[in-house]
Amino acid sequence: MDGTLTEPRKQIREDMISLLSTMSNFADLGIVSGSPIEYIQEQMMPAFEVMTEEVLQKLTLFPCNGTQVYTYDASKKCYCLKHRTTFKDFLNTVGDSSVLYTHLIMNLLDLQSYALKKYSDLKVSGHFISFRDSILNWSIPGRQADSELRQNFVSVDSKHGIRSHLNEVLRVRLDAFGLSRLETALGGSTSIDIFPEGWDKTHVLNHIASEDVYFFGDRCQPGGNDYHLYKKLSLKKRSYEVAGPADMIIKGMNLLSRINLDE
Ligand SMILES: [Mg+2]
Repeated sequence: MDGTLTEPRKQIREDMISLLSTMSNFADLGIVSGSPIEYIQEQMMPAFEVMTEEVLQKLTLFPCNGTQVYTYDASKKCYCLKHRTTFKDFLNTVGDSSVLYTHLIMNLLDLQSYALKKYSDLKVSGHFISFRDSILNWSIPGRQADSELRQNFVSVDSKHGIRSHLNEVLRVRLDAFGLSRLETALGGSTSIDIFPEGWDKTHVLNHIASEDVYFFGDRCQPGGNDYHLYKKLSLKKRSYEVAGPADMIIKGMNLLSRINLDE
């Protein structure tokens, strides 16, 4: 969405709406975004107002990196949730979800307590762990920290390397408990994110029956949020890196003209 179909957080423009409408004559369309559904709907509003029902029925929305699927329901005249996978569903593929989840939370609370004992200059608020469907966010100063507390954490963290240390210990504990398929990463400036392996945008391919998938994205280089999906489809020469919506229009039209020639 951002940087490909629209400028970041901006609404879709008329020329992009007409490109998508034309593309829908040749293929089913999908929008995969790291953002939640509310952002996609807001940005797509101008398109939803003018697209025909035929086009809308060919357009699927995949928020949260494709861990959620929304399709158009003509009777309700809106997009409805068709599929939702959560972190806990993933744990079920590893073992008993509730045992594993309890173990994970116990370890986070234990490490939180360990950090408070070890680092006497660490100050905290509350609400340390947030379950966000596809990710578990552990904030060491707590999500209720005001800017002063957050600033305090940033400075003690840079002094002691608290998050890196906790992340290493957590990694060892997860591996020892058979949770090596959970990834951990430092998130923002105060948190550690814990999420299932492979839950980047390639997750969307789980919902697409056809092998014949083309992808356009703007952040396709290592570290970018389109990188993994871009790389996977580039083996079949079906991924395109775009410099923004204007470039997307050019590359989209090029692809359409090649498809027309092939026919
Ligand atoms: Mg983007």
